Amino acid sequence: VRLFHNITELLTLAPEEHPADDPAEAGLGVVRGGAVLCGEDGRVQWSGPEGRLPGEHATGTERVDLGGAVVLPGLVDAHTHLVFAGDRTRDFADRCAGESYEAIAARGGGIRLTVRATRAASLDALAALARPRLLSLLAHGVTTVEVKSGYGLSVADELKMLEVVARLGREGPWRLVPTVLGAHIVPDAFKADRAGYVRLVTEELLPEVARRGLARHVDVFCDAGAFTLDEALRVLEGGRALGFGLKVHAEQLTRTGAAAAAAGLGAVSADHLEHLSEADADALAAAGTVGVLLPGAALFLGGHDRAPARRLLDRGVAVALATDCNPGTCPSTHLPLMTTLGCAWLGMAPREAVAAVTRSAAWAVGARDGTGTLGLGAPCDLAVCDVESWRHVPYLLGHNPVTSVWVSGRKVLSRPPLAGLRAAQS
Ligand SMILES: [Zn+2]
Repeated sequence: VRLFHNITELLTLAPEEHPADDPAEAGLGVVRGGAVLCGEDGRVQWSGPEGRLPGEHATGTERVDLGGAVVLPGLVDAHTHLVFAGDRTRDFADRCAGESYEAIAARGGGIRLTVRATRAASLDALAALARPRLLSLLAHGVTTVEVKSGYGLSVADELKMLEVVARLGREGPWRLVPTVLGAHIVPDAFKADRAGYVRLVTEELLPEVARRGLARHVDVFCDAGAFTLDEALRVLEGGRALGFGLKVHAEQLTRTGAAAAAAGLGAVSADHLEHLSEADADALAAAGTVGVLLPGAALFLGGHDRAPARRLLDRGVAVALATDCNPGTCPSTHLPLMTTLGCAWLGMAPREAVAAVTRSAAWAVGARDGTGTLGLGAPCDLAVCDVESWRHVPYLLGHNPVTSVWVSGRKVLSRPPLAGLRAAQS
């Protein structure tokens, strides 16, 4: 049993246990002068104001002084493609010089470059490439990470990617949630036989992934240049029949109706959503499907499309913000930066952006065990931040506020704060 104390602001994200007086903090469950008691099982046994710690824990408990820090639940990145090989910096330079995505793809760049390099890489090589990306996420306070396949596009290569995720998950200390995205794009070999590829995914890949227990969710990219709504629905229905949770890349470049259709199938999340209609938002609200927004990708692609965050939130849809960490459209592991973009660019309130990388993001990966909160029974995962208040987390553009990270109550990472920065924040 371990007591974390001397916390200026503890964000429990458990408003039912710690209701807010200030509407600007609604839903965050903020406790000033807070403490967290971590049980032997690595879960929160008690959290609240330090002065109200139950007497039996006041003595004989190991105390960890967090030095007046602000503490958030370990962050949850609900959408990444961080297992990949290959270098896309030339694509980036060409795109910055005004070349179109289509022209880059036509000369062999784009997602096909990543597929070629990922197929050529061994399981060991892919793990060695992905590990530092996970470490970088961890350094930004992220303790739970959704990771997709989708650069293999053959049964063997998709399984290889998912085996990499399984291996890295066993290594820890992060918690990984694997998703099979065999239907990312149609591989070149199936250009003339799209239906054949959809069959390969639904009849060969998904059953084998289920048999090996390598993924929790099935995802599909439904858009111009990827899969049609009809094809996407076949993949999602196949996944549902095998017991997978469902996710969808929807309404990113064009509106296809995939978000509402996936919600109708009970999808846990619909992701991107830049071209979501009013009726689509209603469908997500009715189904309880989380909207996962990826402003880093929209910005990296030129900033033409903004996801309708307010349209979703005002209808009561839970909204998550994720990095989309991938080599083509968002090579970033900076989840705190996505909260800044959610506020400044998508019109979210700071409290909504913080919930979007914690509690709502956990829902988006199907975790309903208190992950993304520090309420009673939640995993005791802490992102300890050297800031004056939680409001500085989305406010400090591009700053990483995280100085130590704890998983199940154990320290997994720490780095010294920048001297004097905290004083300079106010
Ligand atoms: Zn994606």
